[in-house]
Amino acid sequence: MTRIVIVGGVAGGASAAARARRLSETAEIIMLERGEFVSFANCGLPYHISGDITQREALLLQTPESFRRRFNVEVRTGHEVTRIDRAAKTVTVTPLVGGETYTLSYDRLLLSPGAGPVVPAITGLQTPRTFTLRSIPDMDRILAAMVAYKPKTATVVGGGFIGLEMVEALHQRGLKVSLLELADQVMTPVDAEMAMPVHQELVAHGVDLRLHTGLTAVTTSAKGLSLTLSSGQMLETELLVMAIGVRPETQLAVAAGLTLGSKGGILVDEQMRTSDPDIFAVGDAVETPEWLTGKPGIWPLAGPANRQGRLAADNMLGRQVSYQRTQGTAICKVFSLAVASTGLSEKRLQALGLAYEKVYVHPASHASYYPGSSPVSLKLLFDPHNGRVLGAQAVGKDGVDKRIDVLSVVMRAGMTVMDLENLELTYAPPFGAARDVVNQAGMVASNVVRGDEAICHVADVQAITADQLLLDVRNPAELKNIGAIPGAINIPVDELRQRLQELPRDKEILVTCQVGLRGHVACCMLRHAGFRVRNMSGGFKTWQMVTTQF
Ligand code: FAD
Repeated sequence: MTRIVIVGGVAGGASAAARARRLSETAEIIMLERGEFVSFANCGLPYHISGDITQREALLLQTPESFRRRFNVEVRTGHEVTRIDRAAKTVTVTPLVGGETYTLSYDRLLLSPGAGPVVPAITGLQTPRTFTLRSIPDMDRILAAMVAYKPKTATVVGGGFIGLEMVEALHQRGLKVSLLELADQVMTPVDAEMAMPVHQELVAHGVDLRLHTGLTAVTTSAKGLSLTLSSGQMLETELLVMAIGVRPETQLAVAAGLTLGSKGGILVDEQMRTSDPDIFAVGDAVETPEWLTGKPGIWPLAGPANRQGRLAADNMLGRQVSYQRTQGTAICKVFSLAVASTGLSEKRLQALGLAYEKVYVHPASHASYYPGSSPVSLKLLFDPHNGRVLGAQAVGKDGVDKRIDVLSVVMRAGMTVMDLENLELTYAPPFGAARDVVNQAGMVASNVVRGDEAICHVADVQAITADQLLLDVRNPAELKNIGAIPGAINIPVDELRQRLQELPRDKEILVTCQVGLRGHVACCMLRHAGFRVRNMSGGFKTWQMVTTQF
């Protein structure tokens, strides 16, 4: 009989335990979890704090008893694994609520210890009003503080997924929330311009957003906490939530002499096997290859953790299944907006020195004549030579998830932007358009790859030379009401054919409109008339996303 011991009983560990039982009725499966709960919904924690998920119990997906009943898995909560003896193939287990430390032998060991919040060495940080959020007890502490202190203000440090979700949750509970972010943008998986609408949304909801700002010291004051910021300013607050990122829990693995990878996560092969053939590791604690480049990365995401747990169970029980790398597909809700991405961002492509081109589109989430549509701003990154999709990012109120999901599958399939033109996606007016956002992005990008349209970007327009002219083909009222790029001359697209003589033939014409569509029509017209033209991808809307400062 094979004995499988699992360290960590949440996303990766619980997935592995359930799968192992489905594959074998004879394996002995013991899952050790140092916390009080197994298989809880970490991703749901902010939504119980906000009040969206009213019942705390809804977060408890399984209990030790339900696991035992359904899967015959022995679950020991409150049991921490403190040591691995690889030679003896045992783990040392310390019950945290009393009882003797004991050793437990294993045939196969699975590590799914997750990642813990990064808590920087900031003077005075450890106060009863300072919190991180990883577990149910962390959530309970925050909720208890809301009752005890009745705070009217809170500060969240870190504008990643958890930070943003906490900003919204605390705002929803009626607090005035400040958000400190050291970088020039929140949501660093997306490029800065794609985060701009998120900044706008935060500010529109009264969030005190402070970019380029870190926390340097904390002191306890009469009203709560006094924060010293990297800007030199002081900020009074009553609750402080630290959400500056997570770090893989590798202490056990390191102490056992298992190899770590270059990013600091536990090194595993395609079968999720560590440097010890009898020890597997999954989830937030490991590093895995990035989908396109194969370069190692750490992705603290529930989807990969669940898939890896299932797959590790297969391999522990003798199957040969390979993990198919990680794309980093992710989404976050920020008030009424969703922001999502898959694959490589532009900044990552630049850091890797890879050739890429990008296009922006801003179509309606569904037929604009049907009520309730709103724009989806989508950025598509692709190989300029063969059109292969390298990454995508989207932000909007509606339909962001399905576009990024489609593009995530497109990437897995190794498809190109030309393939996007042909995708047949669901359509009826309440759901989409006969030419879906993804089709449109594909058509725009295919025009570029095929050489049917030359495009330029905001940076090119910002660096315009004396040999170039900027032409805005919107209607004058749009320029007046929405704004215009300084220096642009204005000829509406519908008058262009009649007014060609107003344009110089010795200059390259950079064309812009609101979102890029009329600019494309104008470019076709001008090219046929013998002008040298480039269309600014995404039009004035993209210009605003790039140039608006917070
Ligand atoms: P975990 O689920 O963290 O489980 C690890 C468990 O191991 C912990 O319970 C820990 O107590 C236990 N453990 C560690 N060491 C030991 C030891 N020595 N002995 C015994 N037990 C041990 N991901 C998304 O994709 N989408 C989201 O919306 C999302 N939202 C999130 C919101 C929050 C607030 C948090 C905290 C995370 C969120 N995540 C989200 C991330 C996702 O939850 C993780 O990627 C996933 O849970 C990782 O699974 P894991 O098994 O590696 O680690």
